[in-house]
Amino acid sequence: MSQEPHPDPYPSDTLGMTPEEMRRLAHKVADLVVDRHINRHNEAVIRAGAPDKLLAQLGGKLPEAPGDPDAALDLLANVALTHQQRTDHPRYFARVPGPSSFAAILGDWMGIAFNAAATSWAGGSGPATLEVVVIQWLRALLGMPAEGEGILTSGGSLANQTALVAARICGKDGPAPGRGDETPRGVVFHTEQVHASLLRSLRHLGYAKSQIREIPSDEQFRMPARDLKAAIAELNPDVRKRSIVIASAGTTNTGAIDPLDDIAELCGNDLWLHVDGAYGGAAAACPESRTLFSGIERADSMVVDPHKWLFQPFGLGCTFVRRAGDLEAAFSMYPEYLKDTLSAPGEVAFGNRGPELSRRSRAMKLWMTFKTYGAARIREAIQSGIDQARTAEEILRSKPDVWEVVTPAQIGIITFALKDPTGKLATAEVHEQRAAALAKSGFAVVTSTKLKGQSVLRLCTLNPLTTKSDLEQTIDALADRALLASS
Ligand SMILES: *Cc1c(COP(=O)(O)O)cnc(C)c1O
Repeated sequence: MSQEPHPDPYPSDTLGMTPEEMRRLAHKVADLVVDRHINRHNEAVIRAGAPDKLLAQLGGKLPEAPGDPDAALDLLANVALTHQQRTDHPRYFARVPGPSSFAAILGDWMGIAFNAAATSWAGGSGPATLEVVVIQWLRALLGMPAEGEGILTSGGSLANQTALVAARICGKDGPAPGRGDETPRGVVFHTEQVHASLLRSLRHLGYAKSQIREIPSDEQFRMPARDLKAAIAELNPDVRKRSIVIASAGTTNTGAIDPLDDIAELCGNDLWLHVDGAYGGAAAACPESRTLFSGIERADSMVVDPHKWLFQPFGLGCTFVRRAGDLEAAFSMYPEYLKDTLSAPGEVAFGNRGPELSRRSRAMKLWMTFKTYGAARIREAIQSGIDQARTAEEILRSKPDVWEVVTPAQIGIITFALKDPTGKLATAEVHEQRAAALAKSGFAVVTSTKLKGQSVLRLCTLNPLTTKSDLEQTIDALADRALLASS
């Protein structure tokens, strides 16, 4: 590409910035981004501002005249972007960390700056090819069969919704004319550990409460196959064919993985098996934990969220379906008879595979990550997250008078509770207060959750940069009321 300013009659920038200014500001942004990346462990893990203060600094009247882009970038870097959680901080243990890698940032940056879209083949064959490629690479990384198809989405919520739409419209038997529009809905089974976003999607898909059946999880927070079997047995064969089982491959609460092989067996040739691996799917990449995911290859649809445990910045989920053609059957806007004229074999139009038409290319960050670090390094980094939760468990178990481990370390998540001298576990109020005080200190952030009514604290340890000392200091801070009060 030419380094020269574009000759007349076209100015260099749509709205009039000079090439010199563009280059100078782009270098400034590069420095801001790299400085932020290499210093992310030196900043507060989380910081929330007051709405009026933030609005006063960032808002005001609609700017009518040109302004100073340097000052605007400084305001972005020093105000807007310092008031947020740093999910890539080594002591960010809340919800699900997002320890993005730099190669991924570079890829995303390129995609945005080149305005890459993956909608039609003719309009974006390069970006579409990258998307086809990274979906195949993800399958290979996670030990999934090579057949089928997939699509990248903005995250797990939309990836799960995309899969549920395909399940509803195609069903186990595959797409048929009018299916989904005219056939009544079947039943959807899940445990109470299912991610709330799927229940929201089911509501939006028109499922009535009576069509959504919760199967209480067992003591390990997994779906009891026996109970699922009994529930399926109550359905008449016709309803069975239109029904869906949602299994979790790594619940967000505890990392529990439902018995996928048993569930796949029960789904048989009738029920659609959807596996939500948004959180835990990445752990299937590690040989040590692959057996926990046994059966995942039998899923009709499956989701993984690379912006969680695959070192990507926000905005990346992935849906896989086992049968090629199901996504297009569910999402293509074109009538069947036009299809042949639209694309030749291999020419994928992702605008017809999911709910977005104009869609930015999301593949570049993942492609750059695989190309730069390689799968072996990625596996090793995922494994370190699994190991860190075990280290946290050892630290907690070494102080049995202070801590009760409620669920053991499972693919990067551990839950635990404070104990009083009589052995009574702390209430939600106490746990929430401790977690809030720690977050306020800026040192670390953890969240609390509830498991069958019991309040617990929870650590999610996905960041390969986290050290044993980070874990020790965080756990100690949570135990020490005085330490938190003084911070
Ligand atoms: C995070 C998560 C989701 C939702 O994904 P988003 O990327 O936040 O939209 C769904 N399921 C599970 C198990 C998750 O952990």
